[in-house]
Amino acid sequence: MPAIAWFRSGGPQGIRTNTPFSGTLFPMGSLSSFECEKCGYTAEVSGGQDAGFEAATQTILCDGCRELVDVLVGKRKGADQGFDPVSPRCPKCRGDSVTPWDESHPCPKCGSSMTEVPA
Ligand SMILES: [Zn+2]
Ligand SMILES: [Zn+2]
Repeated sequence: MPAIAWFRSGGPQGIRTNTPFSGTLFPMGSLSSFECEKCGYTAEVSGGQDAGFEAATQTILCDGCRELVDVLVGKRKGADQGFDPVSPRCPKCRGDSVTPWDESHPCPKCGSSMTEVPA
């Protein structure tokens, strides 16, 4: 699936707090905690598509490390413009075999549905 199809048009989804993402890659996004009640796996990710002033991200399941991570999928072209698609790549293993996280939020470890944990 091309990266461009991963995020819907419509631009930024309002003001968000700037949370450092993996150190220095890009500042953005509001993270949520997700937890698998079955096996205990937890992940801090946005949980889906996200867009900030500079970049668009998507929560993906990395086929290489079987981890949930937010990856960069678009860079802002300019003020009030759309995003240039960026090929998603796992920040942990640098692999590009990644799948957008399904909206049913399956656990990457055991496949049962993960629940969002209130902050
Ligand atoms: Zn699980
Ligand atoms: Zn990976």
